[in-house]
Amino acid sequence: MRCAVCGGFIAGRYITDAWGNSYCARHQDEYPPCRACQRLVCQGVTGGGVRYNDGRVYCRLCRATAIDTPAQARAITQRVQAQMARYGVDTRPYSFGLEMVPLSGIAEPGEDPARIHRRGRAETEIRTVNGQETERRVRVIRLLGGMPETLFAGVMAHELGHVWLFMHRVDGLAPPLEEGLCNLFAYLTYQEIGTPEAHIHIRHIEEDPHPIYGAGFRQVWQRYQQMGLAPLLRAVLTGTV
Ligand SMILES: [Zn+2]
Ligand SMILES: [Zn+2]
Ligand SMILES: [Zn+2]
Repeated sequence: MRCAVCGGFIAGRYITDAWGNSYCARHQDEYPPCRACQRLVCQGVTGGGVRYNDGRVYCRLCRATAIDTPAQARAITQRVQAQMARYGVDTRPYSFGLEMVPLSGIAEPGEDPARIHRRGRAETEIRTVNGQETERRVRVIRLLGGMPETLFAGVMAHELGHVWLFMHRVDGLAPPLEEGLCNLFAYLTYQEIGTPEAHIHIRHIEEDPHPIYGAGFRQVWQRYQQMGLAPLLRAVLTGTV
């Protein structure tokens, strides 16, 4: 078997990635993985790639569909919103800004940008008069700039999930439930896209070891299988989940 990285015959330990590329194990220390598709970023596997100023590395294949501008972001967001509306998560009535940011733009104060799990965040606002809520709105959704289109769509579906919950005044869900539900929306978006790239992200969500994002998703997934989506969403809205 030939190595996808160096082209030599593989002798000894080797790795086969999710795309079916096999390569000598040592290359793992020589090249970074693409932050979107997980392939080794090198000439042989991806034709190279780019490193953004915030340190993120994407391969050339992912870079080919990168979403860099708010105009590109807006077009895909509308597509994702239309899809989600079909299964009862309609965020089209709400207006919000869209910003493409580096890692530091979605980090919480004091959080190390290199270690964050999120790829987006929605900035929300509740106005009060004398302690009474008078208005709530979404100011802006910030997503990492330069993500490939498929990943962007999934991350946007996740953030739109937060927007939908917030605008329906679903406050104080347990974090694994809220993040798990938003990951379910990302998951369904990837299912709809259905490409090999989308399946990489599906597997990533399914196998995520994170106690909130991963375990939360698996908990929500189980209920989704038992109840179906519409009853699950109704239970969330009525606080009976
Ligand atoms: Zn090799
Ligand atoms: Zn990639
Ligand atoms: Zn989230």
